[in-house]
Amino acid sequence: MDFDIQPELSKLLEQLRAFVREEVEPVERVVAREGFDGAAAELAELRAKAKSAGLWLPQLPAKHGGMGLGLVAHGLVSEVLGRSPIGHYALNCQAPDAGNMEVLLEYGSRAQKERWLEPLLAGEIRSCFSMTEPEHAGSNPVWMSTTARLDGEHWVIDGHKWFTTGADGAAFAIVMAVTDPDASTYKRASMFIVPMDDPGLEFVRNISVMGEPGSGWASHAELRYRGCRVPADAMLGFPGGGFFIAQARLGPGRIHHCMRWLGICDRALEMMCERAANRELSPGKYLGHKQTIQNWIAESHAEIQAARLLVLQTAWRIEKVGAADARVDISAIKFHVADVLMRVLDRAIQTHGALGISDDTVLSFFYRHERGARIYDGPDEVHKSVVARKRLQAFGLGRPGEPRNGGRGGER
Ligand SMILES: Cc1cc2nc3c(=O)[nH]c(=O)nc-3n(C[C@H](O)[C@H](O)[C@H](O)COP(=O)(O)OP(=O)(O)OC[C@H]3O[C@@H](n4cnc5c(N)ncnc54)[C@H](O)[C@@H]3O)c2cc1C
Repeated sequence: MDFDIQPELSKLLEQLRAFVREEVEPVERVVAREGFDGAAAELAELRAKAKSAGLWLPQLPAKHGGMGLGLVAHGLVSEVLGRSPIGHYALNCQAPDAGNMEVLLEYGSRAQKERWLEPLLAGEIRSCFSMTEPEHAGSNPVWMSTTARLDGEHWVIDGHKWFTTGADGAAFAIVMAVTDPDASTYKRASMFIVPMDDPGLEFVRNISVMGEPGSGWASHAELRYRGCRVPADAMLGFPGGGFFIAQARLGPGRIHHCMRWLGICDRALEMMCERAANRELSPGKYLGHKQTIQNWIAESHAEIQAARLLVLQTAWRIEKVGAADARVDISAIKFHVADVLMRVLDRAIQTHGALGISDDTVLSFFYRHERGARIYDGPDEVHKSVVARKRLQAFGLGRPGEPRNGGRGGER
């Protein structure tokens, strides 16, 4: 087993670290002050700099204008970008657009690619992914009320969605809707591309999250589809393919998220160390001399390092065996890394005292906005259930009501 990073990738990571420090972090401070929309000019300039430096679409092959990195390499890039809330946005590899690009590349028709994918890749437009409904448990996504019915040459979509990230200012939404209620559970829904300016699409509001409604990409919207008419060719992929496509979208996405969370952890740990090394409790006695703080630093260091290895190994497994066979590993990193993120952020804030909860550092932003990490992409409890069920299966325990199969364990 070789843990060395190839020299070329090492060089790229160095270049990215400098880019994040020198170019991204100053714009991050403008976004913190003015909001995402208020910092539009600075963000556009930042993206232009990234693009001209060849730092663009790291997740996509070169033939689509990307950097052609594999999942492990992109994971490492994602960690560096994660140090800033706008790091991924700067390189056009932010959620939910990155997932939507993958779906369009894989399942989009030629016309859909021309109209939506090309400008998305160029960074000229943004998109959103509209699946969760306030009336139904998002953790059971197959249960939804949004429908799409064929009316002549059009699909007519009716439904209510929320927490559609980045809908504010997006050019289009990829919407999940039931097209065949009588089909088997996973074949009931299909995906549609809906232009955000469709008269049947009502933008209700940006939902205030932990005191902030946000704006632009940095927001989560409530949307109503009321008789929203889209042409028959607005369907993405194939009829009944909605859940199949959504699943394919999630595997690599979880690697990106987990490595982004580790980037946040890295920055928080650095800030914790800096504060501990400089904050004097009394003349000559620094916070970092206290064993409690040393414990937090040491524990955070070990937890981040262990989590990173787990995520990279999962990325490596996805590359080797595919996302479906790596399902248990993917679930394990999702809840484990989200938990490490919460702990490290909390310790970093505590080490900063009152400054930690002020908006004078980026820690409070991360704390507010990343609490959602334990909820989105499947709540932690659902992922724990996936892992535990797999382990228990080996001991003969299936779903409730199923006969025990007498397994003896050991196999993973
Ligand atoms: C920041 C953020 C961004 C999001 N972005 C998008 C987006 O762009 N597009 C989109 O469509 N959706 C988005 N979502 C919605 C997200 O996918 C859902 O919030 C998520 O699937 C959980 O659904 P829910 O909120 O309805 O919670 P519920 O399903 O009601 O679950 C509530 C809680 O119940 C517990 N629970 C649920 N199921 C189980 C179980 N099987 N076993 C044990 N405990 C369980 C968990 O603790 C869970 O947190 C986003 C959410 C957040 C927080």
